[in-house]
Amino acid sequence: MIRVKVDKDTCIACGNCEAVEPAVFSLENSPYSMVIEDPVVPEHEKTALQAVDECPASAISYEELEPNEETSVINIEETTPAAVADDVKEPLVNQEEKVMKAVVDKDLCIGCGICEGTAPEVFSLATEPYAVVIQDPVAEENQEAARQAADDCPETAITIEE
Ligand code: SF4
Ligand code: SF4
Repeated sequence: MIRVKVDKDTCIACGNCEAVEPAVFSLENSPYSMVIEDPVVPEHEKTALQAVDECPASAISYEELEPNEETSVINIEETTPAAVADDVKEPLVNQEEKVMKAVVDKDLCIGCGICEGTAPEVFSLATEPYAVVIQDPVAEENQEAARQAADDCPETAITIEE
């Protein structure tokens, strides 16, 4: 598996990467291209690398992941408020389990990293300058840490939905 990153300061928002591999790149929610699949799943690797090659601003970099880094493929689009609302209507997990969702308001987040430090299985700043939820729904064993991260966030940028 690979992980791709977009340098938002270099990206000229031409949209080519999204056109080449819309499962991995999106300009829908930002003025620059955002990576919405991290790590990139094997079936999207070839086209993601094509997007890297074709980027006119050389704004996309990638790294090969070690096997032990290949866990928890996420789709960041699934954490958008609209998707969260859909998921609330149709929980993805067994009703008997306690379903929790964590949502980060990226406009409030200052990228301090406290949440990642408290709940690294749930929050990550690896791909964006703000915290991204990488476990959705939040696994039961990480729910307490996610709550703690929300409490500790200095910008009240994290919402916990239960
Ligand atoms: S191809 Fe490069 S410059 Fe164009 S939107 Fe994607 S990252 Fe930005
Ligand atoms: S603790 Fe809050 S402000 Fe800091 S990175 Fe996490 S969400 Fe952003």
